[in-house]
Amino acid sequence: MTLTPQVVPSPPATPAPAQQFGSDNYAGICPQALEAMTRAATGSTPAYGDDAWTRLAARAVAALFDAPQARVFFVFNGTAANALVLATLCPPYCSIISSEIAHVNTSERGAPEFFSGGAKLITPPTEDGKVTPASIAMAMRRTRSAAASTPAVVSITQPTENGLLYTVDEIRAIANACHDNGLRLHMDGARFANAVAALECTPAAMTWQSGVDALSFGGTKNGMAMGDAVVFFTPQLAQGFAERTKQSGQTASKMRFLSAPWLSMLQSGAWLDNARHANASAMAFAQAIEGLEEVELAWPVQSNAVFLLMPERVANALRARGWRFYTLFGSVYRFMFAWDARADSIAALATDLRHSTHD
Ligand SMILES: *Cc1c(COP(=O)(O)O)cnc(C)c1O
Repeated sequence: MTLTPQVVPSPPATPAPAQQFGSDNYAGICPQALEAMTRAATGSTPAYGDDAWTRLAARAVAALFDAPQARVFFVFNGTAANALVLATLCPPYCSIISSEIAHVNTSERGAPEFFSGGAKLITPPTEDGKVTPASIAMAMRRTRSAAASTPAVVSITQPTENGLLYTVDEIRAIANACHDNGLRLHMDGARFANAVAALECTPAAMTWQSGVDALSFGGTKNGMAMGDAVVFFTPQLAQGFAERTKQSGQTASKMRFLSAPWLSMLQSGAWLDNARHANASAMAFAQAIEGLEEVELAWPVQSNAVFLLMPERVANALRARGWRFYTLFGSVYRFMFAWDARADSIAALATDLRHSTHD
């Protein structure tokens, strides 16, 4: 009997769709990351991270932070990075303080709670999505009883889910509040490069020099195919992390395809160039729609996101023109700009938005 391979239909030959700004994850792989994967593609190399690419990439990440003592790991995605760091820093009978809109709270299907085996997420009031020392104090007050889940770690997102930045001074104040209360500080840096580019400070200043204990360092949204880094600035805090990555299916067998792109992105400077381009693109869009009737910025543009307040009628009209974007936090519309955002696409989006206000 002969077996005929099943024919897989090819996608219809339509003209390339307009570039979309629904998520920075809509973007493809940037040339530096892709080239690194190609270079790593041939030859025999030890598996599970015991290879030269991974060692060099870990060293490059540590060097970027001027922190040779740091322990660096590579996992497939940001959810795993966050959940496994938090599980490592938080006992199952304690709690994690974050903002209500934090990715760890809203968008990970309870992964931090699941992987910690019982830790609770606590979301005290924040200022526009930013955790403050007052938020931490309130969470501490509310968990005084012996039966409450005592906070063990604070997780802040830099930039925040609504595109805002913590200044270095704000991070230091949060870290002080943490350490005064015996808490660790985790930073969800899914868009960490965008924050560094926007604040023009060093990665070290934004993290361990300001008291951050552990960082989820996003690579995917920065232009890689996949692969986020985890950085523990105090090596002892990384205890058990490698074991957790294996247990959760996050230890890549061919780890070099996660790590080699990191090496290339850092050595070439593409990580920062990509972030600068993405931030500038968001700003360009915001400027292009300035003064539009009925359309307002929900928050100032500080990174690679633009959040708009506009009537639902206008949003629907824009969607009817083929544009994809998220509705978040009830009725705010989000546009994300990535390393590959093109000026002509941004102009087309701005023009269609202008037309949509007249529909
Ligand atoms: C995208 C993102 C993540 C990671 O998400 P994955 O889809 O798991 O890679 C984590 N935190 C924030 C704030 C994000 O925007």
